[in-house]
Amino acid sequence: MRIIVQKFGGTSVATPEARQYVVKHVRRAISEGFSPVLVVSAMGRKGDPYATDTLIGLARSVLETVNPQELDLIQSCGEIIAAVVMAQSLAAAGLSARAFTGGQAGIVTDASFTNARIIEVRPDAVKACLEKGVVAIVAGFQGVTRDGEITTLGRGGSDTTAAALGVALNAEYIDIFTDVGGVMTADPRLAPDAQILGDMTYSEICEMAHMGAKVVHPRAVEISMEGQIPLRVRSTFDDSTGTLISESRPRPTAAGKEILSDRVVTGIAHVADVSLFKIESAHDVNSSGLALNVFQALAQAGVSVDLIHVSPDQISFIIQTSSHDRALEILRKIVPEITASKGYAKVSAVGAGMRGVPGVMARVVQALSQAHIPIYQTTDSHTNISCLVAEKDLQRAVWALHDEFGLNKRQ
Ligand code: ADP
Ligand code: MG
Repeated sequence: MRIIVQKFGGTSVATPEARQYVVKHVRRAISEGFSPVLVVSAMGRKGDPYATDTLIGLARSVLETVNPQELDLIQSCGEIIAAVVMAQSLAAAGLSARAFTGGQAGIVTDASFTNARIIEVRPDAVKACLEKGVVAIVAGFQGVTRDGEITTLGRGGSDTTAAALGVALNAEYIDIFTDVGGVMTADPRLAPDAQILGDMTYSEICEMAHMGAKVVHPRAVEISMEGQIPLRVRSTFDDSTGTLISESRPRPTAAGKEILSDRVVTGIAHVADVSLFKIESAHDVNSSGLALNVFQALAQAGVSVDLIHVSPDQISFIIQTSSHDRALEILRKIVPEITASKGYAKVSAVGAGMRGVPGVMARVVQALSQAHIPIYQTTDSHTNISCLVAEKDLQRAVWALHDEFGLNKRQ
């Protein structure tokens, strides 16, 4: 049996018209000899009746605090509804289909409610379904603990469901269908001249995803990479092939063709809505144990920190603004003197090809300063350079870096 996993995001299943495109992709896969397994997200975005945020809002409208267990119960409904509606759409088109919850599809997770990790996939029920020639439609973003409690996998979790099923079923491809044509050189919402990247390696997309490119969840990339299953990111709304992600990019043979593996920067990623925290101290922050206490307290509260700088008299870092108030409350118990400011964004130039190439940082700094964009902090690794800028400068910062590295030209 040749299995293909086809994951459809929220906008791809939101309306009857969108679902007709899904039907088309399923039909095509079947005509090509594949047995499709669909993974679906909740229908639509915030404000739509069955979208994840709407369901959370419903629980919170009664009482602001919701237990993580109950939060997962209500959140998991969105994908279940989408799976049933999609099964109906396929049936109406004359295709036999069966909807599964994550648990029924054998997605077993740990018990970290709202951010659970898949620990095992038992794909027998899905396999049996495919063997009967029936399309399996799995509710994404959710699983079940060994004790039978319903969990969810965190934002972007349907991508992870698709990857885990793809590996467990030894699929030929894991296709992530979405509302853009593939992985692009920058978020097209910010950079309208962003270009689709035809092919990428797992490590390139992983790096882009970790730096904020939300088009595919980094965990999904890691799982596909471990299982060596090629991943394709493509549009629900047309037939283009999108971005093929695999271990290596095809080597160009024709003389004169640009060697893709030599591209210094693959793309520009960003994270919006971040807060900058600074803690000054008259005593050495390391020997006094202050640095340790601060980061331990944040870790215990599940607040992830980034762009960390520690010097003897100062600690600074950034966090998502959604955690701003909570982090401040926790840290005030440890240190009275904290400056915390909202209104920042992180912009990153990402590319495996920048390893060992001199002058990339200089180009980043020059491009931003020519655009009169102040840089508040920077950090770099072998494969990325990140700068903290003011939120109001974010879009211009993305443009400046995108232009500097020639990403607006077709690759
Ligand atoms: P889905 O609901 O299908 O999972 P997402 O909203 O999670 O869709 O991901 C698709 C969105 O990711 C796009 O609409 C786009 O705005 C955003 N995005 C961010 N960075 C990139 C990038 N580098 N390439 C393509 N899309 C990106
Ligand atoms: Mg997504």
